[in-house]
This record gives sequence, structure tokens and C-alpha cells, in this order.
Amino acid sequence: MGSTFPATPAMNSELAQLLRSRGLHATAQRLAVLRALEACPHGTVDELTQLVRDDLGTVSKQAVYDALALFCEQGLARRVQPAGSVVRFDPRATDVHHHVVCRTCGALADVEAELDTAAALAVATRLGFSVDEPELVLWGTCATCQAHPPSDSRRSASLRAPSSRSNSPDSQHHE
Ligand SMILES: [Zn+2]
Ligand SMILES: [Zn+2]
Repeated sequence: MGSTFPATPAMNSELAQLLRSRGLHATAQRLAVLRALEACPHGTVDELTQLVRDDLGTVSKQAVYDALALFCEQGLARRVQPAGSVVRFDPRATDVHHHVVCRTCGALADVEAELDTAAALAVATRLGFSVDEPELVLWGTCATCQAHPPSDSRRSASLRAPSSRSNSPDSQHHE
């Protein structure tokens, strides 16, 4: 990825305040992970670790994962993991929003649309489900994959085994 992102003092103090508001110490590492999340919403652990390394130098993926897990606990981020996809972290932890996912490469984006999910919720409730994430996932093919369709073998492989991509499989298994 190799992108650097400017960390202005004002931005840092805002993020530090956010951490302290959750009773967390504002360590340099946690601040860097928060900045990475803002720079790369829906980042995988690998992507976010790379950003933090660009920023801070050496840092272990486990340390980044631990910070992300803590943020999820504290409502500063949440896990997004559509079926068959690698886990991604979303800085929009509390506002319900929907996602669109590329079946081919796993790219994921927010769907900024006012969707009335009340009807779907009512049906789920009638079916006896207790829903804690009333969000919808739209599936399809991203612009990049439409422009450069992979061979058929890779297409099916990527869905069945996300680990075959650069996102290493162990990014999902730290719990
Ligand atoms: Zn794609
Ligand atoms: Zn999102």
C-alpha cells in the first residue's frame, strides 16, 4: 500500500480524546491504529498493519489486531465479515449502514443510502430471530474486477478460499 497519511497534532489530540473517553490510554500504537482505520475504512488486519508500519515502523500484526479487538469492545470499531470474506474493521461502529461486496476480490464499500430495514426486521422477528445487526449486504462485482475479469478458476477459488489472496488466513484466527 505504501501510503503515508498525515497525522496533524489536532487530529491526534482528537483521537487521543476519543480513546480516553473510553477509558483507554492513548498510546502511540493505538493512535496509529485509529489513524489507519480512518485512512482505510474496512481494512483487513494485514492492510491496517501495513499502514501502522508505514507510520510507526516495526509493529506486530498481533499488536494491531489486539488494538482493533479492543476498539471493537469499546465501540470504536466493529468487525465486518460477509460470508466467505476475510474479516475487515469498520470505524463506523454504531451507525447502522449497509455494505456492497465484490464476490471476486472481496472489496467492500459502504452503501450510503437510506434503506428502510424495518420490514425486513419485522420478518426476521416473526421468524423468531433476534437481530443485533440490522444491516444488508449487497453482492456483486467491483469496477476493477469488471474491467479485468479473472479466469473462471480464480473466480471460484477466491470465494471458496479467501486465504489464497494476499490476505493471509491467520488474520482471522487470533481469537
Ligand atoms: Zn473486485
Ligand atoms: Zn462500513
